[in-house]
Amino acid sequence: MIIILLGAPGAGKGTQADLIGERLGLVTIASGNLLRENIGNGTPLGLRADAYMQRGELVPDGLVIDMVTARLKAPDVARGVILDGFPRTLGQAQALDANLAAQHKQVDRALYIKVTDEALLDRLSGRWICRNCQWSYHEKFNPPRVAGVCDNCGGELYQRDDDRREVAENRLRVYFDLTFPVIDYYREHDSLVEVDGDQEIEDVTRALIAAIEPQPARLAPPLKIETYA
Ligand code: AMP
Repeated sequence: MIIILLGAPGAGKGTQADLIGERLGLVTIASGNLLRENIGNGTPLGLRADAYMQRGELVPDGLVIDMVTARLKAPDVARGVILDGFPRTLGQAQALDANLAAQHKQVDRALYIKVTDEALLDRLSGRWICRNCQWSYHEKFNPPRVAGVCDNCGGELYQRDDDRREVAENRLRVYFDLTFPVIDYYREHDSLVEVDGDQEIEDVTRALIAAIEPQPARLAPPLKIETYA
């Protein structure tokens, strides 16, 4: 099962990826988290990616494709995976398809969490992330039980540098220019399902799970039994 989560920065992809991953027992791979880990560990990839991320630009395709391809080879991915934040360009989507096809696999669903544009900046500016497990909170819409502390693991919450207003605005511009066409790509490949992301978090999760799980077969109407007197 290979699931892709699409949507603008602030649409709730990270939150939903963690929730549906936990419920369906699937591993989540978030390209942004992998890049931040590389930056934290001072790897050559992290050193190259850092400047792009600080400006709210995309890290070049080649670097991100190699990073995600390597992660997809790990044994924990065998049962299935939710990809959050990848692919973000048409080039990445095509590279992913080619890579999966070589292993006789394919993307099963591309789930597009659709949120009105006005809501996005508000969502980004109130966002807090756990330093330890990367769970995401919002000071207004999804606050932690104790301010500054992660409900999931007790880790410390912090605000990402690239959620600052001017960088966040650039990330949204980049999203509309480069990532929006990816939605059409999956629509043309018949794997796209749109979900209304302006609902309560729990309702979005329910809608996403309904889009992933096979629908129960329709029951045939009860047989009409004629009785003859
Ligand atoms: P995210 O955590 O998904 O919001 O990503 C944060 C930043 O990481 C983005 O603004 C990009 O600079 C970089 N990034 C994450 N995923 C990708 C990707 N698939 N392609 C290029 N850059 C990415």
